[in-house]
Amino acid sequence: MTSEAFLRADGDEADVGLDLALRPRNFDEFVGQRALVDNLSVFIQAAQGRGEPLDHVLFSGLPGLGKTSLAYIIAREMAAECRATSAPALARPADLAGILTNLQRGDVLFIDEIHRLSRVVEEYLYAAMEDFEIDIVIDAGPSARSVKVPLPQFTLVGATTREGQLGAAFRSRFGHLEKLQIYGTEDLAEIVRRSAVRLQVEVERDASEEIARRARGTPRVANRLVKRARDFAQVRADGRITREVATTALERLGIDANGLGDTDRLLLLALHRAGRPVGVKGLAVALGEEQETVEDVYEPFLMTEGWILRTPRGRCLTERGERWAVAAEPPAPGAGQLF
Ligand code: ADP
Repeated sequence: MTSEAFLRADGDEADVGLDLALRPRNFDEFVGQRALVDNLSVFIQAAQGRGEPLDHVLFSGLPGLGKTSLAYIIAREMAAECRATSAPALARPADLAGILTNLQRGDVLFIDEIHRLSRVVEEYLYAAMEDFEIDIVIDAGPSARSVKVPLPQFTLVGATTREGQLGAAFRSRFGHLEKLQIYGTEDLAEIVRRSAVRLQVEVERDASEEIARRARGTPRVANRLVKRARDFAQVRADGRITREVATTALERLGIDANGLGDTDRLLLLALHRAGRPVGVKGLAVALGEEQETVEDVYEPFLMTEGWILRTPRGRCLTERGERWAVAAEPPAPGAGQLF
């Protein structure tokens, strides 16, 4: 696996098991995002006090920041079930109707990647969210007719990496709009230590900090790195993740001291070589990646860490990025005359 597979927080099959094993089960286990967690706790307590389900919630934020975990925590706090699905699985209104009609009062319906719902499914969901009823077509051909079916009151929890793609009408149907932020190193180090306990491996404090610093502000990435560091600790050391073990593991995975992986470095070098702002499309082509991947996976980290800037004319390097690129790739003799 290249460093990219580790640093990408959008997950894959192998992550599903890891995510489940390490998923925080309640607010106490959910590290960081304090303002958001405090608000949610109040809203949940208030809804419970009234004996009502919680209003619909929309979580937005980059992949791997904890949106799914929060949906499950909400259900648990509300003593309800969480039914999870994702927009690509809801191709037709009938797919959604099947799930909605099987909900119990108070259940949480979690829809991941909710910005990907087709317009017709999205509109079908409106009525369900607002009036707790849906139209279902029965019979076929000339005798086909639609009947209104009441639904139990439920809480929709939507998750999106692209809040901007959700129409205003859809967004306004959520009672709570919560944005998850990239995590700071302290929170990530705490997550690393908690995950190490669950994975039954000892991690030294400075090792947890080293891993945290290189985890792109993302718990899912941090967890993946702990797991690989554990492999190195087990095979190459005495089983403990020391700073040295962590550093070796990270280096072997191609993640440098700045937390940059192969594609990050290529991206910085591509901007440096271009010597002018580059559009995201051009950048995606240069990297052989989807535009969405560049925007959701690589750029947010590189911008947060001050390597690149997004300007109206395109992406360009910051001074820090420029310094790094010059050191990584000394200019060919005479190249300076080009500018
Ligand atoms: P998303 O749905 O935003 O992609 P997830 O909720 O699936 O993210 O989180 C990915 C994994 O990262 C979780 O399984 C959990 O192990 C870890 N994680 C995310 N947020 C936190 C947090 N605040 N505290 C502890 N672990 C977290």
